[in-house]
Amino acid sequence: MKLPLRGGCQCGAVRYEISGKPMALYCCHCATCQQQSSSAFGMSMLVPRDGFKYLKGAVAAFSIPTDSKSKKLGHFCGDCGTRIANDTAGKPALSLKAGTLDDRAKLKPVGHIWVKSAQDWMIFDEDALIYDGAPDDGYFALMQRYADQEYA
Ligand SMILES: [Zn+2]
Ligand SMILES: [Zn+2]
Repeated sequence: MKLPLRGGCQCGAVRYEISGKPMALYCCHCATCQQQSSSAFGMSMLVPRDGFKYLKGAVAAFSIPTDSKSKKLGHFCGDCGTRIANDTAGKPALSLKAGTLDDRAKLKPVGHIWVKSAQDWMIFDEDALIYDGAPDDGYFALMQRYADQEYA
């Protein structure tokens, strides 16, 4: 994967650039990601905050209700509504909605989280890292696997 990566929303108003090495790519099958993506799962790419910037467009933000006290914002295009990223205060990485990248051809998630709420028909790659709920290791194994895959 060659940096920088670029992407944007469906209408083109919002554009962004990633200049820092992404740290992981995984699918989340939690109820919130299903609802947010209006699909079966969400695909998230962890991108270092200081290696990500918006190039243009009016990014709107939605305050996502969470169980913890952490403040989590969902960034989306104010014109077309495409969700771009989730941003939790204090975390070093943003969770980018990987389907907004311009080049989606080689996106290969290394794992799946919250599979206990995955759709019945999902078939998981034998090699993938599988988690019933949230990873209990702070996403370490997912990041390790991703680094091995992308930067071997
Ligand atoms: Zn848009
Ligand atoms: Zn989720």
